[in-house]
Amino acid sequence: MGKKNKQFVEKVTAMEDDFAKWYTDVVKQADLVDYGSVRGTMIIRPYGYAIWENIRDVLDRKIKETGHQNMYFPLFIPESLLQKEKDHIEGFAPEVAWVTHGGDEELQERLVVRPTSEVLFAEHYSKIIHSYRDLPKLYNQWSNVVRWEKTTRPFLRSLEFLWQEGHTCHATDEDAAEETNKMLEVYASVCEDYLAIPVLKGRKTEKEKFAGAKYTLTIESLMHDGKALQSGTSHHLGTGFAESFDIRFLDEEGKQQPVHQTSWGITTRLIGALIMVHGDNRGLVIPPKIAPTQVMVVPIAQHKEGVLDKAYELKEKVAKVARADIDASDKMPGWKFNEYEMKGIPLRLEVGPKDIEKEQVVLVRRDTGEKVFVAMSELEATVEKLLAEMQHNLLERARTHRDEKTSVAHDFHQFKELLESKLGFIKAMWCGDQACEDKIKEETGATSRCIPFEQEQLADTCVCCGEKAETFVYWAKAY
Ligand SMILES: [Zn+2]
Repeated sequence: MGKKNKQFVEKVTAMEDDFAKWYTDVVKQADLVDYGSVRGTMIIRPYGYAIWENIRDVLDRKIKETGHQNMYFPLFIPESLLQKEKDHIEGFAPEVAWVTHGGDEELQERLVVRPTSEVLFAEHYSKIIHSYRDLPKLYNQWSNVVRWEKTTRPFLRSLEFLWQEGHTCHATDEDAAEETNKMLEVYASVCEDYLAIPVLKGRKTEKEKFAGAKYTLTIESLMHDGKALQSGTSHHLGTGFAESFDIRFLDEEGKQQPVHQTSWGITTRLIGALIMVHGDNRGLVIPPKIAPTQVMVVPIAQHKEGVLDKAYELKEKVAKVARADIDASDKMPGWKFNEYEMKGIPLRLEVGPKDIEKEQVVLVRRDTGEKVFVAMSELEATVEKLLAEMQHNLLERARTHRDEKTSVAHDFHQFKELLESKLGFIKAMWCGDQACEDKIKEETGATSRCIPFEQEQLADTCVCCGEKAETFVYWAKAY
């Protein structure tokens, strides 16, 4: 290990010293993004985009398997259209970007660059839905949206981000409720089974629900620093948009009925979650199922006869069971080790002259740093085994971390103390009054993350006001 290696690692701030700085260092050093020329925008670099593509591919498959179809809407929304649903416009007005001119000419009506597409879908649905035979309508779009945020951070909050938004119409309230649940389960599965991020499932309070929704379901995850991140939401829209946009159908008895709608989305924020749940002071740690490259082959003493040939041969062998790549550049192995650790590549395969003699290779796991010698004849099987183990280990490690950082608060004093000393999720009872929710936020900075589906009777009284408690809520400071 030369001086060069040391300097390389030093470019990343230790997460214990400054987590926010660690995050931006890793995002830059792992070459996930660059900053756009407009403040708060990001250029997603090829490695960052490859991670997004893998998340997208998994989710897109699940969206289609559950009967949905993809389509695409225009970027612009006429102001009058956005005004049609009162709660919705109130929620989004502070952060929309306006288009006022087309070329030199001032537009007769201002346009909004979509912050979300409920109203576009609603208008379209009002034209294409006539009878119960037209239902359900199960559409999704992959797109970008713009929200003029004041403070921004790559992936977590940016003026423009990528996402998918599902929008569906149903004949009954129950059907819409079932859809809302179903898509939340799909999101939870993507997070836990692929991103190795454990999630809490629940319902948002009235204060935190989506603007214009009947209710919002959410999955919440905990980052390494003890702050929460909303990782996906699924909204039951009820008939609000249907009433405002006149989306009606003739039911089987020939009566006009409004449709019941849902919408649901996940965004490039999930990449931020991935970084903050699994990363360490050496950089990213990408779960194998999502990693663009799962095994990186690094030849040792590659100038020696036969090493490169063997390294390429091994790469081909591994490629039968995993996404494999090789770095045969003339950079020093130490530089390469650091580089691929920074990028979070799950397994490194080292092979040099001595290994070739012994017909073995060295495999190094990114999550544990564990180094194993493997006979070349057992390479494929071992790679598959180690990748599966790492995938499992990352989820369990994150779950343990989250559970260790979850506490129960019985009174407001304890609530504040716990939040101060260890952050994380706080489980506490709530009376259901928004005044208490506001007070908790104002005095502690914590927000209600969700009313979990799995309720526990932690106490009989509200943690804030001491009145009779209605539900148990997860609270946390959040991104
Ligand atoms: Zn209360």
